Formats: sequence, C-alpha cells, structure tokens
Amino acid sequence: MISKTINKLHSELPATVKLVAVSKFHPFNAIEEAYGAGQRIFAESRPQELQAKVRQLEAERPDMSDVQWHFIGHLQTNKLKMVLPYASLVQSVDSVRLLDAIESWAAANDRKINVLLEPHVAAEQTKQGFSPDEVYSVLESAVGGGYPHIVFRGIMGMATFTDDMDVVKGDFAALRSIYDRCRFLYPSLSEDFVELSIGMSDDYPVAIEYGSTMVRIGSMIFGSRS
Ligand SMILES: *Cc1c(COP(=O)(O)O)cnc(C)c1O
Repeated sequence: MISKTINKLHSELPATVKLVAVSKFHPFNAIEEAYGAGQRIFAESRPQELQAKVRQLEAERPDMSDVQWHFIGHLQTNKLKMVLPYASLVQSVDSVRLLDAIESWAAANDRKINVLLEPHVAAEQTKQGFSPDEVYSVLESAVGGGYPHIVFRGIMGMATFTDDMDVVKGDFAALRSIYDRCRFLYPSLSEDFVELSIGMSDDYPVAIEYGSTMVRIGSMIFGSRS
C-alpha cells in the first residue's frame, strides 16, 4: 500500500515538485517500504524521533545512506544537536531566536545549514511563524552577511486547517507572494532561494497550482497517525 501510493505520486507529480514523505509517528519499516519504492526524502517533526530513526538506519540499513532527512516540526533551541547533524533541510524555522541559535551552532560545528523560513499566514491562533516583514528583515540581514553559516533555501508554509478550499487558496497565494517578493527583493540569494514548500495530503494538488516545489505528504502515504 505504501509503495503503491509512492509510485502513484512519483508518476503524477510534475517534475518540478519534490515529494517529501512525512514519516513522523510511523515505524522504521514504513520508511524501508517507501525507500524500496524509490522514495529518498523523509521528514520528521520531533527531534528525538528523528535521531532514533537516523541511528536505526545507520545501524541496520547502511545501504539506505542516501536518505535525506528534513525537519518540519517546532524546534526548540535546546534540541538543535538532535536535529542539525542529520537534517539536510530544516523546513520549519519560525523565529529569529531559532535562526540565531542555528547560526551559532553551525559556526561552532563548522557546518552550513539549509533552512526554509516559515511565515505564519493561516487563520489559526498560533504564536509560531514569522510575519512577512520579519522574513524580509531576516533576508536583509542575510545579504549583509549576518548569517554566514545558513543557506536560505526558501519558504515553508501551512494553510488554515479547513475544508474551505477558498481559504486554503488564499493562504497559498499569500505564501507564494512572500516567496516571490523575497526573490525580487534579494536577487543575490535567489540562486539558493528556490523552494516553496506548500501542500500536504489534503491540499497538495491546490498547492501545486500555486507554485509548490515541495509537497510534504504523510497520511496519504503511511495512513493515519492516530
Ligand atoms: C504532519 C505534517 C505534514 C503531513 O501532513 P499530512 O496531512 O499527514 O500529509 C506536513 N507538514 C507538516 C509541517 C506536518 O507537521
């Protein structure tokens, strides 16, 4: 079932859209099955779980060393060392405080960390995520040399949790326009700044209409997490 869905998605997604398989809360053998169907990018949302799965993979499946791990959950600054050594992309950078902590860790460990900035556009009351203006001011400081150990790769976002596709479209349009404006304002970053990570199991076809380059799909591939 997992491999069937992976195969279907790989054949249906436009070539410009990368599939990120969200394996959070699912066991390692689900990842092995998806890998067998050709999936290489997996995403986790909890530091402990990411670290455990990376270690299991290293111990049991060295042949799967070409897996790329993305981190998509809220990251606390005291958990960086459980995530940054392993994640090829941290999609969910949602505050200047976190970004500054990542820069410090990367400088101390002589690493460059790929990140997406997560603006907050959905209607839900949540404290997480940048305002659009904060996104632009972070990039302003990046072009001025403020984050030498961070590679800004684009924007990640989530739509409001609703069945009303007009609301979802409005949110994706807002994220798309933030992404476009970043590329317009900071052309020196735009060679790296190429990812718009929008779209999940229930809304990815709509996200693709709005220019998604990366869809994050969990339950459609692996089943429900509850
Ligand atoms: C869990 C999660 C997903 C996957 O959601 P599904 O509806 O299961 O596809 C995508 N993005 C983020 C940030 C998530 O936390």
